[in-house]
Amino acid sequence: MQHRVIVLGAGYTGAIAAGRLAKRLHREDVAITLVNAEPDFVERVRMHQLAVGQDLKPRPFSEMFAGTGVELKLAKVTGVDVDRKTVAVIDGNGAEELEYDTLVYALGSGWNAQGVPGTAEYAHEIASRPGALRLRERLGRLEAGQTVTVVGGGLTGLEAAAEIAEARPDLDVALAVRGDLGDWLSPKGRGHLRKVFDKLGITVHEHADVIAVEADRVTTADGNAIPAAVTVWTTGFAVHPIAKATALEVTGTGQIVVDGTMRSVSHPDVYAVGDAAYAMGPEDKPLRMSCASGTPAAWQAADAIAARLTGGKLPNVPIRYVQQCISLGRREGVIQYVTADDRAVRAALTGQLAAVYKELICKGAAWGVANPTLGMPTRRRRVARERATAGSAVKTLA
Ligand SMILES: Cc1cc2nc3c(=O)[nH]c(=O)nc-3n(C[C@H](O)[C@H](O)[C@H](O)COP(=O)(O)OP(=O)(O)OC[C@H]3O[C@@H](n4cnc5c(N)ncnc54)[C@H](O)[C@@H]3O)c2cc1C
Repeated sequence: MQHRVIVLGAGYTGAIAAGRLAKRLHREDVAITLVNAEPDFVERVRMHQLAVGQDLKPRPFSEMFAGTGVELKLAKVTGVDVDRKTVAVIDGNGAEELEYDTLVYALGSGWNAQGVPGTAEYAHEIASRPGALRLRERLGRLEAGQTVTVVGGGLTGLEAAAEIAEARPDLDVALAVRGDLGDWLSPKGRGHLRKVFDKLGITVHEHADVIAVEADRVTTADGNAIPAAVTVWTTGFAVHPIAKATALEVTGTGQIVVDGTMRSVSHPDVYAVGDAAYAMGPEDKPLRMSCASGTPAAWQAADAIAARLTGGKLPNVPIRYVQQCISLGRREGVIQYVTADDRAVRAALTGQLAAVYKELICKGAAWGVANPTLGMPTRRRRVARERATAGSAVKTLA
């Protein structure tokens, strides 16, 4: 019998973790199953591009994982029982239960409407592919001069407003932000952001706390109405709800609390990575939901699982921030360099070079997912019987 590793979610972090495990561990000893609802990889960091009509490269998992030893299971996860060590899934053939010895939970997140009245009825989201496609269809029906208001001044809101304004100069695009535009960036980054927004004709509403969305406007806490034939809601992500319904220790928002090896603090057979995980980063600050920290977290989890199974040394993958890469349409951008704990430093790269740099980062991230087992040693380690999780039968150490 093999040690059964199940990875839930094949977004950036789940796919990377599955590929890395396949590269590290011997196939005869370990069975790796990657469960995902969709048959192809969704480049979430490009959802604003999809929304304005750009087509993304298809990336079917069946091609990406061919020959890697990772078994794909195209099914929707409906529940996890961490005491019985089972995962409930459903696909075209019906419901099924999968048993695991080690679980990697990477179900990601979705948009966060934050309970603001009218969001569910009227707002659009770009945290998911269906959301981005709905917005794409809606934008396609807008006539010149109509208003699009993006709510949220974080990275996603900035990118969405700029992308829409660049792709549809005939529309009247606005951005509503709680503080000042790009107030966490360096003076150089902030100045450039404002310049690009002015050039793109984006109206910025600062100190605007949106408290209601209607069919043709959003209303702020101070009573202002901002016209919005289309509202795009980008005020952060809400973690996938399944973890909260388990016995795992989770935060109030449903993220799984993990230690430095991405292992659940309550259930040692469970690891969590990406948006689903609550992990401490540099300076004891929780990692933010991003590929920037999710990718090294996935490496860390895979390496820790491999080390624990094979009796190797526990890894210490550095999880630190280097930069925030912001695309502002296809021709402009800001690369804001940051401290290890994600605070802006003075240096920033701006302009077309920044746009090219961001494009390379996106391509690199997708390449890493699409080539899950490339670039690592091919010698796979055998599982040590005495180190394997209790209850799992494994081959002897070679
Ligand atoms: C528009 C946009 C721009 C962004 N730009 C950046 C950026 O520039 N830099 C950056 O670092 N981060 C960026 N992010 C954030 C980044 O995309 C996320 O942090 C990242 O995708 C998280 O990875 P993940 O693997 O945790 O989750 P995801 O990538 O969301 O993957 C989750 C996977 O789980 C699957 N899944 C979900 N539910 C189920 C289920 N019930 N059953 C089976 N499968 C399921 C999904 O289909 C998906 O494949 C951006 C996000 C958005 C929306």
